[in-house]
Amino acid sequence: MDLRVDPEFQKQLDWMKQFIREEVEPLDLLFPSSGAPYDTKNAKARALVKPLQKQVKERGLWACHLPPELGGKGYGQLKLALMNEIIGRCSWSPTVFGCAAPDTGNAEILAMFGTDAQKKRYLQPLLDGDIVSTFSMTEPQAGADPKEFTCTARQEGNEWVIEGEKWYSSNARYASFLIVMAITNPENKPHERMSMFIVPSETPGIVIKRNVGGMNDTEEEGSHAYIQYDRVRVPLDSMLGKPGEAFKVAQARLGGGRIHHAMRTVGLCNRAMEMMLERAVSRRTQGKLFADHQFVQGMIADSAIELEQFRLLVLKTAWIIDNEPHGAARTHIAMAKVAMAKVYHDIAQRAVHLHGALGTSRDTPLAKLWMGAPMLAVADGPTEVHKVQIAKALLRDVKPAPGLFPSEHIPTKREAARARYAKILKDLGP
Ligand SMILES: Cc1cc2nc3c(=O)[nH]c(=O)nc-3n(C[C@H](O)[C@H](O)[C@H](O)COP(=O)(O)OP(=O)(O)OC[C@H]3O[C@@H](n4cnc5c(N)ncnc54)[C@H](O)[C@@H]3O)c2cc1C
Repeated sequence: MDLRVDPEFQKQLDWMKQFIREEVEPLDLLFPSSGAPYDTKNAKARALVKPLQKQVKERGLWACHLPPELGGKGYGQLKLALMNEIIGRCSWSPTVFGCAAPDTGNAEILAMFGTDAQKKRYLQPLLDGDIVSTFSMTEPQAGADPKEFTCTARQEGNEWVIEGEKWYSSNARYASFLIVMAITNPENKPHERMSMFIVPSETPGIVIKRNVGGMNDTEEEGSHAYIQYDRVRVPLDSMLGKPGEAFKVAQARLGGGRIHHAMRTVGLCNRAMEMMLERAVSRRTQGKLFADHQFVQGMIADSAIELEQFRLLVLKTAWIIDNEPHGAARTHIAMAKVAMAKVYHDIAQRAVHLHGALGTSRDTPLAKLWMGAPMLAVADGPTEVHKVQIAKALLRDVKPAPGLFPSEHIPTKREAARARYAKILKDLGP
């Protein structure tokens, strides 16, 4: 595995670091709500963002998750990981760099499964950053297990009629279209019962019951929609992919989404680390700097070790995606997803704690950062589900012990060792 960065690309990364600190981070302060980067109707924000996006495009850094045929650079995941570490520092930079979720995943499945007409209508404006979209899968009664979903789509004449409820459909209030998962083939096996639909936001029958606020939002700021699809009618050609293929379509977007989140989380952890280090050399107690207290040194060392381990896991996962056959990184993506939530939680907690009351206030980015931790452990599937998947993959080809005792049973192995060298030992004498 080669993780070296070529000098030309390093120049791009250096430019990004400075650009994001100086030009993009101020947007987080001017438009702080978590939904703001998705609000394409906010004229003031757009007036500031457009020129920044133009600079990113001119430097060839726009939408770098995409392959060249879709307008990306085809850099691959390893380079993307290094970029996302920088992009992850603040909440506006994914929008400025054309790689904000869930539009990235939605663009990918439109590219993979969309018809030419669907691509023309939905994909291009999404890639250009002119519109945003929503992925509407989770339901109020079930999230981690899609087999429990009940939203249906039935064919009536030349239309599909979608009926049911969806929950936590992020950014629906700003989206131009929603990608909705619904049961079309209840007679099929569980994983082949649902299909995916592209539904324009203005379609009658889409009722946003509430825009639920995340824990770091105020209620009014909420952008995770609780939606009722009240006999929503869409033409037959609105299906994305084939009937019964929704699981396959969803899986195609979730792997990339998870690892991209992990890459950006490295950036957030770096930011928390930087704040922790600065605090340690800036504040005194008991006659000496925080930095000279062993408890503080322990927090810093633990954070650095955990972050480095997590970062290397993310980079290795990226390398596997770039270099090994499709699907080879599945277990590593799950590992990175699990590690992400834990490492981020622990580092954010220490950074808040070291800042005392200030850390718990809204006067630093730390409180918001800390509140993101539980969300990372749930969004894109809870930690437990991924741990189960990791364990299953590791156990799949393992053979049971050959007899009553494990194959590492020392008395049995010693017996075999004696038998193997019996002749030589006998010749050597007692
Ligand atoms: C910030 C954020 C953004 C989101 N955006 C979207 C979006 O845009 N579109 C969308 O469709 N959804 C979205 N979601 C929803 C997300 O996909 C679900 O929250 C997730 O799949 C978990 O479902 P749930 O919330 O119903 O939790 P549940 O399925 O009820 O799980 C709750 C808890 O039960 C336990 N549990 C669940 N399953 C297992 C298991 N197999 N084994 C052991 N324990 C288990 C875990 O502790 C888990 O945390 C978002 C969520 C968050 C937090």
